[in-house]
Amino acid sequence: MGVTQQQVQDALAKVATPRGVALTNANVLSAITAGDGKVFFSINVEAAEARAWESVRAAAEAAVRAIPGVEVAMVALTAERKAGPAAAAAPPPHRHAHGVQNVAAHRPPQGAPSPMSKQAEIPGVAAIIAVASGKGGVGKSTTAINLALGLRDLGLRVGLLDADIYGPSVPRLTGIHEKPQLNDERKMIPLSRFGLSIMSIGFLVEEETAMIWRGPMVMSAITQMLRDVAWGTLDVLVVDMPPGTGDAQLTLAQNVPLKGAIIISTPQDLSLIDARRGLAMFKKVNVPVLGIIENMSYFQCPHCGTQSDIFGHGGARHEAERLAVPFLGEIPLHMSIRTTSDAGTPVVESEPDGPHAAIYRAIGAKVRDQLKGAIAAA
Ligand code: ADP
Repeated sequence: MGVTQQQVQDALAKVATPRGVALTNANVLSAITAGDGKVFFSINVEAAEARAWESVRAAAEAAVRAIPGVEVAMVALTAERKAGPAAAAAPPPHRHAHGVQNVAAHRPPQGAPSPMSKQAEIPGVAAIIAVASGKGGVGKSTTAINLALGLRDLGLRVGLLDADIYGPSVPRLTGIHEKPQLNDERKMIPLSRFGLSIMSIGFLVEEETAMIWRGPMVMSAITQMLRDVAWGTLDVLVVDMPPGTGDAQLTLAQNVPLKGAIIISTPQDLSLIDARRGLAMFKKVNVPVLGIIENMSYFQCPHCGTQSDIFGHGGARHEAERLAVPFLGEIPLHMSIRTTSDAGTPVVESEPDGPHAAIYRAIGAKVRDQLKGAIAAA
């Protein structure tokens, strides 16, 4: 059933705010996305006010959810820093974001945390690691899921959080097109596939939806996916980060309690420059870089097996040596890595005895060794 903007506006006009005016008159609302039973918008206030507005956010969400026909409502409270260089560089306000399952999202009420602050760990999750890349299209998501499967093959309990909010690819990589259910505590139950516990913003929003979200909204949605999901007991939670090293990525790296980060790079120089930015970003927020993986490292002909160094193979290894970060491995550019990913059965799952699965498992073993302390402690 459809929900109109007017219905949402009418409901919000009844919500009071600390400014003594109705929410609709407080000049804090983002554009409202309504339709198809889903409503999504954010309340944007200054960091110092955020705490006082949390109850408004909750009231707004309850008011919207009470509108007949609303199945899904997400109201994010975003506490923005006063315009500074970062705010000025933020992407434009979202226009077409669709609603997320009926759970609330909010930024930590304190507003912008100090560069060294970390949110609390996720109970039951021993180690959260980020898989990042300096730019899109280098195979970050493909590597993230195959690495998760490699870690699974080592006997670990593994989760995968697709935090690539600008272009979630986990639905394609897993073939999952269901929406997560809520448990009794109203937490989302991750989808289970290949023995992994999986969550993606792509399970919650319409497919092909162009999501042009502001940095703080990205953080809100990701915080929600981390904390409002019943992850259970995991040794490792692999987070597929949004590509790039902008403000949203920095905030994410700073706010998610990461045990480490892995940078995916192709051998081309440009991509390596981007990878260097990724390294610098994690360094800035004191997240250890577990290593660099060179993806599409060399071309392996599916017919004759000949290896060709299309992109000048080895760049990432040299770069890792130069920067004194571990080099975790090289993954070839191979047709079956792409076709299996596109078919929703990643290569480690569909060709477990093949050479590619062995490479991902070997990388997984290096990652596990670095996380041993954290996993053992939990
Ligand atoms: P990103 O997450 O960095 O945007 P993806 O993982 O979505 O990148 O990969 C982009 C495309 O490249 C996908 O079609 C994927 O199947 C393909 N791809 C990734 N890694 C490889 C590889 N090693 N060999 C062949 N194709 C690959």
